[in-house]
Amino acid sequence: MTVRVRFAPSPTGMFHVGGARSALQNWIYAKQQGGVFVLRIEDTDAARNKPEWTEGILSALDWIGISRGSYEGPYFQSENAGEHRAAATRLYESGRAYYCDCTREDVQARTGSQYQGYDGYHRDRGLGPGPGHALRFRTPDEGVTVVVDLIRGEPTFENKLIEDFVIARGDGSPVFLLANVVDDMTMGITHVIRAEEHLPNTPKQQLLWDALGVKPPVWAHVPVVVNEKRQKLSKRRDKVALEAYRDEGYLAGAMRNYLMLLGWAPSGDREIVPWSVIEDEFRLDEVNPSPAFFDEKKLRAFNGEYIRALPVAEFVEACQPWLTGTGTIAPPPWQPDEFDADAFAAVAPLAQTRIAVLSEIVPNVDFLFLASPMIDEAAWTKTMKDGSGELLDAAVTAFEALESWDAESLKSTLEAVGAERGLKLGKTQAPVRVAVTGRTVGLPLFESLEVLGRERTLTRIRAARLRLP
Ligand code: GLU
Repeated sequence: MTVRVRFAPSPTGMFHVGGARSALQNWIYAKQQGGVFVLRIEDTDAARNKPEWTEGILSALDWIGISRGSYEGPYFQSENAGEHRAAATRLYESGRAYYCDCTREDVQARTGSQYQGYDGYHRDRGLGPGPGHALRFRTPDEGVTVVVDLIRGEPTFENKLIEDFVIARGDGSPVFLLANVVDDMTMGITHVIRAEEHLPNTPKQQLLWDALGVKPPVWAHVPVVVNEKRQKLSKRRDKVALEAYRDEGYLAGAMRNYLMLLGWAPSGDREIVPWSVIEDEFRLDEVNPSPAFFDEKKLRAFNGEYIRALPVAEFVEACQPWLTGTGTIAPPPWQPDEFDADAFAAVAPLAQTRIAVLSEIVPNVDFLFLASPMIDEAAWTKTMKDGSGELLDAAVTAFEALESWDAESLKSTLEAVGAERGLKLGKTQAPVRVAVTGRTVGLPLFESLEVLGRERTLTRIRAARLRLP
């Protein structure tokens, strides 16, 4: 039997990191089993779907390594609407489902409680189809439903506690529970690997599989992803969109490696391993069922390591979207006056060891590509003290006299200027750095000045000098 798994996102918002994690787990499982990965877009919630969310999912999957054309689909749930309705009809005709026109208030009035589920009032009243008549599944009165779950063992549900749930609304449209089952059935899905939040749906869905006469899939409910307060990651509170990480400059390799560590780890106490090791060693049944902490700080540190491990040429390439606004990644609201690839290549190795996400390249090197530096006024006020003007004058004079414009000569020259005034190098550097780069922190100063060049360096120091008393 060929293993067939599916990833079935609903295009109702940005693509959630938890979804990306499930997609990767499905992807690897299919690969390990020599199976097929199917992508199904569950687009039946017409009010909340937007085509751009679908596109966002496809491109985010592509970014993370599940590339278009290498899987089956995408299928769209809405295209299967005929099958959903046919299944509802079959269940009605076989007596496994019945119509009901009770409102919530009716049920409450009868049961005397707003917490009570549906009481089965219409089970044997023979109500036929009609406007406003919902179709309910007749759940068994006895016995148990055992879900075989690769991660959770065999969660067992008492059938008498499962209410007769709705499978098609009063307007005839099938609900998610049914549509999702029918799609899995028609697509021949053998393993459903999905988020834990769907576990409560599973006994109901398994009853539907049984009632429709098809062997249910094997389930695997992967743990919920939580923030540092152990709250489920939510798009209102937490940064959850995979695209947001991508646009900030997380590397796909770091991101997917980190996502796979949510609830699982490779052998030998390692965390950063080649993707091929994850593909070999990952075991779905080793995934820890407890909530997985999405630690943004750790992800950041992880990403820094991936950045440092890149060959310089790849690092240079990877930075381009942030520096020049090219590429598919949404660039930050920054544009160079003139980008100089050679200048960037010269400072790239210095920057590579200092940044944790690629977008941080901008504040480190923007001074090289702007006609005049973006002065951070707070940095200016903090740095420019009495005597700074005189110090800058002296720096200009000393730099003008330099024969060779290289980092070492610049350093010894400025060191001497400081020493004459009883200043350590750090204190001497600070006003020069702010004058030239606009900031108090950044790449090593003298290498930066070497790359910026004599003329621009002197022009900037003179311009800063004019602002000072
Ligand atoms: N469309 C559902 C969701 O995004 C997925 C359901 C499933 O994986 O079975 O939560």
